[in-house]
Amino acid sequence: MPSFRRRQFLLTAGVAVGAALLKGCALNPPSPNSMSALADVLPPSPATMPEVPGIRLGYIAIAESAPLIIAQEKGFFTRHGMPEVKIAKQASWGAARDNIEIGSSGGGIDGGQWQMPMPHLLSEGLITKGNRKVPMVVLAQLCTHGNGVAIAKKHTGKGIELNLAKSGGADYIKSLSSSKKFKVAYTFPKVNQDFWLRYWLAANGIDPNKDVDLLAVPASQTVANMRTETMDGFSTGDPWPSRIVKDKIGFLAMLTAELWEAHPEEYLSVRREWVEQHPKATKALLKAVMEAQIWCDDPANREEMVQILSQRKYFNVPTEFLRGAYEGTYPMGDTLTPVTSEKTKIRYWKDSKGSVSYPYQSHDKWFLTETVRWGFQPSGLLTEADRIVTQVSGEKYWREAATELTSMTQKITAQDIPTTVTRGIETFFDGATFDSTKPQAYLDSLKIKAIKA
Ligand code: CA
Repeated sequence: MPSFRRRQFLLTAGVAVGAALLKGCALNPPSPNSMSALADVLPPSPATMPEVPGIRLGYIAIAESAPLIIAQEKGFFTRHGMPEVKIAKQASWGAARDNIEIGSSGGGIDGGQWQMPMPHLLSEGLITKGNRKVPMVVLAQLCTHGNGVAIAKKHTGKGIELNLAKSGGADYIKSLSSSKKFKVAYTFPKVNQDFWLRYWLAANGIDPNKDVDLLAVPASQTVANMRTETMDGFSTGDPWPSRIVKDKIGFLAMLTAELWEAHPEEYLSVRREWVEQHPKATKALLKAVMEAQIWCDDPANREEMVQILSQRKYFNVPTEFLRGAYEGTYPMGDTLTPVTSEKTKIRYWKDSKGSVSYPYQSHDKWFLTETVRWGFQPSGLLTEADRIVTQVSGEKYWREAATELTSMTQKITAQDIPTTVTRGIETFFDGATFDSTKPQAYLDSLKIKAIKA
C-alpha cells in the first residue's frame, strides 16, 4: 500500500473503524510493526468501509467453493474489513435453498455458492416453499471447469465418452432402455449438473427424458451408489469424479471443459435486501473473493490450496483427490489414460476467454434458455428472461469492486474488467452456438428438447 494512503488511513481509522475490527488490539497501543500490519488489514478509506463486519455464506464441499474457503483461510475477508464473515458448509443444495429462504436472522444464510440458475429461480419464487420470492443478486462467478460425468466401471469398453454417438456408446445406452434403463444422477435437479448431463446426452442423440433415467442424489451418497451398481453415472464437481476413479469404481467419460470451454459454472449470490442495505460490505466481500480467486489460480499456491481444502472441516478428502484437477490432469475414459491439458484445469480468476469471475449476463441467459429447452419452465419464461437476468445481475457491484481493487493491488488491472455484459457467441463441442440476443434461434437449432407451451 502506498505510504500516503497508509497515513491517511491511520489518521481516519480511529473514527471510521467499527469496534469489531479493533477488538484484537483494544488495550495495547500498536507498535510500529503492528501498525504496518494494521494498515495492510484495514480497507483504505472511510468511503469503502463496510457497513457490517460480516455475513453468513453457505458453501458445498466441492472445488467451486475454494474462493470462499481461501478468502476465509488467507485473511482476505479481514483485509477488506469483513473479519466476521462466516462460511457454513451446507449438507446439500436443498439445504442451501432452505437456508437462504430463512436468512441468517432465522439461523440460515444470507448468500453463498449456487448452481445456476438457482438465484434466478429463488428470485422468481420458482423453487421455494409456497413460491415465496427470495430476491437474489448474482455477484461473481466462482470458477470454470472442474466438473464432469463419471460412469460405473461395469460399462467399460462400451464407447461411453464425449462423442459417444460416434463411438457406439449412444447405441449401447439406448439398447439398455428396453431392459434396465441407464441411470444417471446429479446433486440437484434443473441446474448446472443436470444441464451438462442433458446437453452431452442430447448432442449425442440420446433423449434424456426418454432413453435414460435421471435422478437427484446427494454427492456424499454417489460413491456408495456407484459401488453397489444402483447407479450408472454421475454428473458432479471435483473431488467426486476423481474420487470415483481413484476408488476404481468408475471412469470419467467426459469433462465439462470439453463440452464448453471456459463455461460458466457456479456463482456467488447474496440476498438482494442484504446487498441493498450494505453496498460497501458487498463490494468488500467481492474484493476479498476476487483476491482469493487470483490466489487460487497462482500455481505457486497450489499445494497450500490442496492442503487447506482437503481438511476435514472443508472437503474431508485425501489430498490426491484434488491435486490432479488443479494440475489439469484427469485419467480419461474407460482406459483411465492420464491426460494433462491447460484447457481442462479448474480456473477461478482468468481462463482462455478472459474473466472467470465477472458475472456475464449472457451466461445467465443461457441457463434460463436451457430451463425452457427442457420444459422446466413454460416457454413464456424466455420473454421474461432479459428482465429476470437484469434484475438479478450484480455486475455493477463486481465492476466497482474490481475498479477499487486495481488501486490496492497490482494483481488486477483495468484489462481484467470486461467492458460488456455479454461474452459474445458461445460454441459447444458439437458445433451448436448460442447468441444471448437470439435464444429462440438456439432452441430452434437443437433436435432434442422438451419445450412446454
Ligand atoms: Ca458444479
